[in-house]
Amino acid sequence: MVKCSFCGKEIREGTGKLYAKKDGSISYFCSNKCEKNLIFLKRKPIKTKWTNAYNKMKKTLLTSTKSTEK
Ligand SMILES: [Zn+2]
Repeated sequence: MVKCSFCGKEIREGTGKLYAKKDGSISYFCSNKCEKNLIFLKRKPIKTKWTNAYNKMKKTLLTSTKSTEK
């Protein structure tokens, strides 16, 4: 199983897109939405609310602030 390069969701076989850049790096996208956000809008997954990367960042930030409080 491949994961979407933008939102982090798993992509089912036969769906999604493979995007190869000129520099040789490869990205997988589960939908047009993810592709547009990364390539055309140049958004960062960490700063986009509906991605797994954002949720992970949020969790790690919350846990790190908690641990420093104690
Ligand atoms: Zn995606």
